[in-house]
Amino acid sequence: MSDAPRPPSIDATARALAADSPLPHAVLVDCARRAGGDPAAARALADGLAASLLQPVVNATGVLLHTNLGRAPVAASVPARAQSVEFDLATGRRGSRQQGIGALLAVLCGAEAAIVVNNNAAAVMLVLAALAEGRDVAVSRGESVEIGGGFRVPEVLERSGARLVDVGTTNKTRLRDYRKAVESRRNDVALLLKVHPSNFRVDGFVESTPVSELATLGVPVVADIGSGLVDSSCPWLGGPPPAWLADEPAARQALADGAAVVTFSGDKLLGGPQCGIVAGNRDLVEACAAHPLARALRPGGLVIAALQDTVLAYLDRRAVRDVPFWAMVAAPLESLRARAERLVASTGRGELVATEALPGAGSSPGATMPSAGVALDGDRLAALRAHVPPVVARVEGRRTIVDLRSVAPADDAVLESAIAALPAH
Ligand SMILES: *Cc1c(COP(=O)(O)O)cnc(C)c1O
Repeated sequence: MSDAPRPPSIDATARALAADSPLPHAVLVDCARRAGGDPAAARALADGLAASLLQPVVNATGVLLHTNLGRAPVAASVPARAQSVEFDLATGRRGSRQQGIGALLAVLCGAEAAIVVNNNAAAVMLVLAALAEGRDVAVSRGESVEIGGGFRVPEVLERSGARLVDVGTTNKTRLRDYRKAVESRRNDVALLLKVHPSNFRVDGFVESTPVSELATLGVPVVADIGSGLVDSSCPWLGGPPPAWLADEPAARQALADGAAVVTFSGDKLLGGPQCGIVAGNRDLVEACAAHPLARALRPGGLVIAALQDTVLAYLDRRAVRDVPFWAMVAAPLESLRARAERLVASTGRGELVATEALPGAGSSPGATMPSAGVALDGDRLAALRAHVPPVVARVEGRRTIVDLRSVAPADDAVLESAIAALPAH
């Protein structure tokens, strides 16, 4: 903070803003100064800054893993206490932050070992740097993709220090294409990288080579499954997996099919905090853990605590109740309709509508799940966002849809007050 004398107008403007801004005085002074003391411009700056601060919102978009809303909703509460992050309670000596969570993840995925990093982009980068630096990595031209948020396979590969070897064509890549790439490079191909093209689909005359076939070539197969589905049979649901999951690769099956390593996000279909997971053969996972980049990419105790809770919920077979994403997926349509009806009755606004919710986060593009919501006349998005806490909905045609599949039942009271407070239209 500067002690330079400031014109009285700056101070007066900042003090006037303080009446209804949550921002600290020093920040309001900064807004007033940047606005040259102009009260209206200073207010616009302060309001914009306040709205940009991280805060809880109710996701009524019907997109369960909304990338702009932090993907999977996850509980994270640890007391303000030291944690055994890198302390081995058995020996009283320094331990590894990866040991406990790695062992749980390995059991969950059916892998020999696992580690956690900050996100899946970091997981892929680390695997390539640790296992293929200065060597060739074969990737199908159909999987040399951009996932979103700037994750582009050829660029990540280049930055890792590995060399990209393009294999096959955009629409068809067969086993013999990979074999040719491996043999023509005199076995300097360190890895075969398989990337799930998450958020788009190529239809028609297409063919790709499954992990089970790639694993026959004698080169370690790394499968970036991205979405983080643990097991394609979804045993935690206590019934058949939903149809919209049909094309999603799963960690357990990719490893059983012969992948040496899988990488995936913690905050997509796993339903945990933002992180990336590397699971697979012990020697390869240990090589990743020992690489200097692993230190730069390691997660903090808060993330490990939230991930540990998530993984324990799966292992204890209570994921459908305790992992919020799966609780939303499993909510019976009837219960969503009943909640929407109650909202319509209690607010006297809008009407019950049948809707289609989406998994989101690039999972299962085009797939939907049946849902229910409240439809309100006109575009009410801004008014709903202005509620405290903000409600984020979507517009369809001339109506605003408040979709209940992406809302925890405990947040219905927030929806009720936000809808009831809408100005008459
Ligand atoms: C989402 C995704 C990524 C990026 O993961 P982040 O956790 O967002 O870093 C990489 N690869 C695939 C296949 C993905 O689906």
